[in-house]
Amino acid sequence: MSVSTAAADQTVCAPLPVLGRDVTVPLVTGGEVAYAALDYAASAPALQRVWDDVAAYAPYYGSVHRGAGYLSQLSTDLFENARGTVAAFLGCRADDQVVFTRSTTDSLNLLARALPADCQVFVFETEHHASLLPWQDARVSFLDAPRTPRQAVETLERALADRDPHGPALVCVTGASNVTGELWPVRELAAAAHAHGARIVLDAAQLAPHHPVDLRELDVDWVAFSGHKLYAPFGSGVLAGRADWLRAAEPYLAGGGASRKVTRRTDGGVDVEWHESAARHEAGSPNVIGAYSIASACKALTEAGWDTLVAREQHLVRTVREGLAEVPEVRILSLFGDDAPRVGVLSFVVEGWNSSHFAAALSAEYGIGVRDGLFCAHPLVRTLLGSDPQTQGECGAPEAAPGEKSLNAIRVSFGAGT
Ligand code: PLP
Repeated sequence: MSVSTAAADQTVCAPLPVLGRDVTVPLVTGGEVAYAALDYAASAPALQRVWDDVAAYAPYYGSVHRGAGYLSQLSTDLFENARGTVAAFLGCRADDQVVFTRSTTDSLNLLARALPADCQVFVFETEHHASLLPWQDARVSFLDAPRTPRQAVETLERALADRDPHGPALVCVTGASNVTGELWPVRELAAAAHAHGARIVLDAAQLAPHHPVDLRELDVDWVAFSGHKLYAPFGSGVLAGRADWLRAAEPYLAGGGASRKVTRRTDGGVDVEWHESAARHEAGSPNVIGAYSIASACKALTEAGWDTLVAREQHLVRTVREGLAEVPEVRILSLFGDDAPRVGVLSFVVEGWNSSHFAAALSAEYGIGVRDGLFCAHPLVRTLLGSDPQTQGECGAPEAAPGEKSLNAIRVSFGAGT
């Protein structure tokens, strides 16, 4: 296989209307400027429906929960209706809360701050750093990488059986890997967690854009996801699920909106009564456009129909896999085996190629945007590459010279939503 990295003469300075300025972009065969963004797992392009909804609302934008005027009332309605739409999209239980956050990372950090005292947390070492790292202040057990879904359940069961059965515990697990795209056995892991008196939070950052996520059906206690991976790139995310831990916790941020009543004490201090609703963790002026755009994406995906979306995406997955299989130098990375079900996220290495150089060449020569690196899941990628942790570099950094064995990988990701 030959891909040249000498791409300097194949780029062109072209006007990009959206930015209103010239940018250097690849010029592919025939003089056409083209892009193929196969990096949906990082951020998925907005659905046209989302752009249209946001554009229709934008002239009426106002602050929420704060004004008697028409625009404020309208914005408050849209914001609270968005909460209802997301609750329906996720199959929330009647007493669940939907908290609007900035992202999945923010949602999981919020939950980490809301853990009851002495909560023990169980998390597989294979998680994205957003699920792996927020629990550092808790008693956290990192579980070894399983090599089959069954092994994942058995590993969790063993770990939970050894825990203090009286204290609170939380399992954090991803629904679909951002590295391999493989689906994790969420329902079985939830059953194991509950059988041992633990709760479970689902990191659905990569699952929600590709599959229906229903809290009741999966029997998970919380779910977290990001708008910008669900075709709604306006800086917001969601934490949805059980209200009790969220209500009992100190607010994630202190400030207006989270507080119901603030009074000055005679000793000079202040007393605060915090809201018990989701507003408790949404202090400050919320991202109304972000919440509205998530709701718009939820509606669009639901209306398109998950059966259609999943079938279309699985067709794309098969096409990409078959194409890659024709290249003998390509090795697709997999934790659970080649036949494991997966969403439209695939990582691979190309024998004899540095992954960063290969990804740069795909962009420069073919206008194909992929991601290279360790994908914010360093322990997992090291396991998959069988590489020595000490020789591994930073996320996204090119570490090996051309021709040397690659120490990182290439990821293509796509979805059927656009
Ligand atoms: N979890 C998984 C599985 C992810 O793939 C990502 C992002 O790539 C995150 C969490 C973090 O999402 P965000 O950067 O939107 O917080």
